[in-house]
Amino acid sequence: MAQPNTNLLNMGPQELEGFFKSLGHQGFRAKQFMQWVYQRDMTEFSCMHDFPLDLRRQLDELASLPTLTVHTEKTSKDETIKWLLEMDDGNKIETVFIPDTKRGTLCISSQVGCALNCSFCATATQGFNRNLSTSEIVGQIMLAKRRLLELGSSHKITNIVMMGMGEPLLNLDNLIPALQIMRSDYAFGFAKRKVTVSTSGLVPAMDKLNAAVDVALAVSLHAPSDDLRTQLVPLNKKYPIAELLAACKRYCSIKKSNKVTIEYVMLAGVNDSVANARLLAKQLANVPCKVNLIPFNPFPGNNYNCSSSNAIMAFQRCLVERGYLTTVRRTRGPDIDAACGQLRGRLRDKTKRNARFKVTRQVVTVGRNLS
Ligand code: SAH
Repeated sequence: MAQPNTNLLNMGPQELEGFFKSLGHQGFRAKQFMQWVYQRDMTEFSCMHDFPLDLRRQLDELASLPTLTVHTEKTSKDETIKWLLEMDDGNKIETVFIPDTKRGTLCISSQVGCALNCSFCATATQGFNRNLSTSEIVGQIMLAKRRLLELGSSHKITNIVMMGMGEPLLNLDNLIPALQIMRSDYAFGFAKRKVTVSTSGLVPAMDKLNAAVDVALAVSLHAPSDDLRTQLVPLNKKYPIAELLAACKRYCSIKKSNKVTIEYVMLAGVNDSVANARLLAKQLANVPCKVNLIPFNPFPGNNYNCSSSNAIMAFQRCLVERGYLTTVRRTRGPDIDAACGQLRGRLRDKTKRNARFKVTRQVVTVGRNLS
């Protein structure tokens, strides 16, 4: 039986159907509900006029649709918008909207902080507090949609990238229903290539994701050899490159048209030589993929530098000559710290910061158990 104050934004399409049935109504009410909330932005149950009156009353008594609160909104010179969002427990996360001529990409967070401790990422410096709920993940899209409307923006959200704070695949239980809501024709209705999940490479969770929902995958490879990758992405110790690339192949094998995006941050003098590019090309042989080079975005307290544009071009040329579609990610919103890897949010419980290494190990074990 439904409990009072049941948060319906925490439910994926199937769970919603079960919820409406448990109230004695037909399953199709779930579809109508998703249309009201995710397509028409309606949050008042009493106004959902195609529901029978008794259902509207039941929802008023039993259900809730909590919203996230904007703590701060910043707009970049290039029109990128960053929101610092506050949640019920006082934790804060960041969400970024990146408008372009033809598309509008919303970059959303999956966790408060991150436990993976990649050496070049600002989110890692703050440690990990907790996973976001499904409601907090889809809530970022609802909020961005609402704010864009209020701001009179001509831009629409056409793409979702799970590239904000956190490692999405360490939060699979809450992520999967959220992705199903993004994909459902009755909810946000994004096509499969318009929703991208980026991962540091949790191999068993990549397989689980593949089985659960059809979305595009990006993998943070960042180095062509295990020694170097382990320095940059410590998770590599657990899931080295060969295992990770095998998982990428499995991800693509089910639907033959799929390609994984290989993300590669460009760090001067660290991973950006032409020799690195040649080795990368060898590693990627037979992996259906395209490569996205990400110029490093600096943040205080970090010693890395971004590769020169000549080094980035030479790296790109080397991959292109070997047959890889290779793009360079345009840096957006750097003046408001909204670019890749610059998101920090605010963690309420700073004590977890010191427990970062412990948490990392624990979390990785959880990842293994997902298989
Ligand atoms: N945890 C996920 C999502 C991270 S953010 C993952 O690791 O994929 C998305 C991308 O930005 C990742 O490829 C990440 O490695 C990269 N990134 C992190 N810090 C960066 C920085 N300072 N400059 C450029 N890219 C960065």
